[in-house]
Amino acid sequence: IRLHVEHPLAEGQPLPLDREQAHYLFTVMRLEPGARVLLFNGRDGEWLAEVSEAGRRGGTLTALARTAPQRMPPDVWLCFAPLKKARTDFIVEKAAELGAARILPVQTDFTNAERIRRDRLQAHAREAAEQCGGTYVPEVAELRPLAALLGDWPRGRRLMFCDESRAGPASVLEGESRGAWAILIGPEGGFSQPERARLLALPFARAVSLGPRILRADTAAVAALTLWQQALGD
Ligand code: SAM
Repeated sequence: IRLHVEHPLAEGQPLPLDREQAHYLFTVMRLEPGARVLLFNGRDGEWLAEVSEAGRRGGTLTALARTAPQRMPPDVWLCFAPLKKARTDFIVEKAAELGAARILPVQTDFTNAERIRRDRLQAHAREAAEQCGGTYVPEVAELRPLAALLGDWPRGRRLMFCDESRAGPASVLEGESRGAWAILIGPEGGFSQPERARLLALPFARAVSLGPRILRADTAAVAALTLWQQALGD
């Protein structure tokens, strides 16, 4: 069992559990005092810990020893237009597994979703990181309009804008350096013409095709992150 916790992790450190964590460990997983679990908090690496106290509404773990160093993901954000609930959940889960450092839902001209459940999506990202052996949980940002996101784009961050009509990643990303990047995937209806024109004119954007077939947006997010990781990740 691997769990993400907020507390600092150090040898002998007692870690109080909240009700939800205690329910998962002691009611669902039926752990008893003395059982071992792995913990990470996004800063101190992965730690082996032992159950010291197990209760219905809480409990305590004690950190024993570090089992892996902290590994930060390469600095790539995934920006995407939210889809129906299950497919948005899928994108967030896969982005966390594939090592996105931050996940940013964006509203575009053809995006259907008016709102997202950020807390729910954040919980999906946490569960995916727990399950895939990561030591870092990407933050899921609030839904923002694309224009606002581009309006205060961080200096030095490049954008891999996924657009069917452009050249493939081998030619576009070859020669690009590592560092801060973001990937942008459009909604099912694609980008509007004004959005596409604005994106193509951005000096920090590189338009990339993901192949000759039109992929669904959730497939495109997985393919784009994989291709980016292969070209510029670690
Ligand atoms: N543009 C199409 C349209 O207007 O109906 C389809 C959009 S596609 C279903 C959703 C998003 O996935 C696109 O906006 C793009 O970001 C990405 N995408 C899908 N297939 C792609 C491909 N072959 N190359 C690059 N991006 C792709």
